[in-house]
Amino acid sequence: MALLRVDQVRIAFGERHVVAGLSFVLNVGEIACLLGASGCGKTTMLRAIAGFESLRDGEIYLDDQLVSSPASLVAPQMRGVGMVFQDYALFPHLTVAGNVAFGIQHMSKSEQAARVAQMLELVGLADLGARYMHELSGGQQQRVALARALAPQPRLLLLDEPFSNLDVELRERLGQEVRAILKATGTTAILVTHDQREAFAMADQIGVMADGKICQWGTPYDLYHEPADRFVANFIGEGVLLPAKLTAPQCIEFELGQICRTTPVECCLGCDMEVLIRPDDIQHNDRSSLQAKVMAKAFRGAQFLYTLALPSGQTLLSLVPSHHNHAIGEDIGIELEMDHLIVFKK
Ligand code: ADP
Ligand code: MG
Repeated sequence: MALLRVDQVRIAFGERHVVAGLSFVLNVGEIACLLGASGCGKTTMLRAIAGFESLRDGEIYLDDQLVSSPASLVAPQMRGVGMVFQDYALFPHLTVAGNVAFGIQHMSKSEQAARVAQMLELVGLADLGARYMHELSGGQQQRVALARALAPQPRLLLLDEPFSNLDVELRERLGQEVRAILKATGTTAILVTHDQREAFAMADQIGVMADGKICQWGTPYDLYHEPADRFVANFIGEGVLLPAKLTAPQCIEFELGQICRTTPVECCLGCDMEVLIRPDDIQHNDRSSLQAKVMAKAFRGAQFLYTLALPSGQTLLSLVPSHHNHAIGEDIGIELEMDHLIVFKK
């Protein structure tokens, strides 16, 4: 069932359209992510869903109720939408428990205490209710912010770059933890971030954004394996685009071989194309006649990420188990699975 429907939304500041015709649907219990570079309109879209921005065009529905349109705007506090901000916006003069109780003042004292205890248990801070913000680590403050936002049981939770003040390792772990908490409480949520790893750790569905629009909406798996265009291919994951040509209605030729499809490619013969090769598309094989030279290598524990040069000088990335330990400058054999490769018209 659709909880949120964003339909052709446009938001402008003066003449500048920051959100430029954005649509998506979010079902109850789903976690979505708007992923895009800084300045592409993510926060503005989130603020519009919360009721803090008015629309130039389009509509926003919550549970089939129209909450935003150019002609109408339901007040933020009437939407049942919770928000976790980038800087947490916690109250330094209140304790952890005081912060979590902030949005549930309408409850009786005993109900408040029970809800606060439940929320702190949920986020793993059961023993820290009496502490003040300066006595907590960044990760703990993040959890207080989440507990405070979840306490009033919002029908939709919005998280704006919630982990950007934390170090990279903690970000990914907290992302998975927060996902588990949202799933356990059945909370529908939208995460906004420019960090792909954060998006992958948390989201069921991701909308890749650029210039106020969604370029592709899909599961993390689909975005990685079936990017709709070269922008999404470049933005999501690592990889390189190799030049290619359409040499027969269904066949594309490039430096490493030929890809033939079961259906004709929509492009005229001889037209320029590109083949996306992810680091995991390439295997190292001593017996292969395809040769490449090791230019650089990065040790990632279980794997090495190699930068390889093809005879043409074109570089490739390959991610292989780290027992494939080659020296820089070494010539190695490579092979790739042609079936998985994605082809774009240039
Ligand atoms: P993101 O969250 O993706 O980094 P924002 O939604 O914050 O992007 O901002 C998108 C663009 O809109 C930016 O160029 C920003 O400067 C501009 N912008 C945001 N809020 C306002 C505002 N209140 N007035 C004018 N310009 C704004
Ligand atoms: Mg932002």
